[in-house]
Amino acid sequence: MDDALELAGIAVRGVSEAGVRTVIELPGLDLAFDMGTCPRSAVRRSTVLFTHAHVDHMGALASHCATRALMGMKPPTYIVPRAVEADVHDLLDAWRRLDFSEMPCRVVPLDPGESRTLGRGLVVRPFRAVHRVPAQGYVIWRRRSRLRADLVGQDPAEIAAARQRGEAVSEWAEEPLVAFSGDTRIDALDREPSVWEARLLILEVTFFDGRVSVERARGKGHVHLDEVVRRARRFHNQAVLFTHRSLRYSLEEAEAIVDRRLPAELRERVRLLA
Ligand SMILES: [Zn+2]
Ligand SMILES: [Zn+2]
Repeated sequence: MDDALELAGIAVRGVSEAGVRTVIELPGLDLAFDMGTCPRSAVRRSTVLFTHAHVDHMGALASHCATRALMGMKPPTYIVPRAVEADVHDLLDAWRRLDFSEMPCRVVPLDPGESRTLGRGLVVRPFRAVHRVPAQGYVIWRRRSRLRADLVGQDPAEIAAARQRGEAVSEWAEEPLVAFSGDTRIDALDREPSVWEARLLILEVTFFDGRVSVERARGKGHVHLDEVVRRARRFHNQAVLFTHRSLRYSLEEAEAIVDRRLPAELRERVRLLA
């Protein structure tokens, strides 16, 4: 695929600049996180999971919806924190009046503690984030059928016999496939074990050095690299993508700081979104 990254076997494409625009697409799962801008490729994503309603994360919702309608694509599904659901409907209604169009879509409120099936064996569960407005991150789980735990290592003939007796020899297992932090203070992630186990973790890291103190980063509801360094041993992810870089830092600068600060064992699994 053209400009998509391949991280832990998962295709990822996106743009994320703190305060300006964020959209992260997972083309293989047909979904996107946030829609602060709507590049041509993102129009194709039929499900968008919104973390919060800051304009740089939600400002292009209407253009995503209208462009899909124009191109005859099926109505998209927008998953949003329950706290913003009514305002999202109001926004869409205002655009429908202004645009003289229907803008068909489904707005689905989903809060931490709830889950929703996305099809293809995928389930999404939000978790509470700590930001300046109501916000949540998401973990995408993959459900897979596997051999029942007590039958693992058993003689194949015994398993076949159990099946013959009409016993269920398989059971469902869930694996955290992708975690997306959204905008948050890092302590929100400390409460979510699955975030650190997900095959791919997409983590906002907005500030990288003393130009912005940890204290100030926290006040803004964002992650500072110092806080990541302190948690280096918690990352069990196969791949970690840092997003949402402040424009104070060029990509080269941020890469150089990350090279210096992260232990090699973690650094080799980390990519920075360009
Ligand atoms: Zn943001
Ligand atoms: Zn924000």
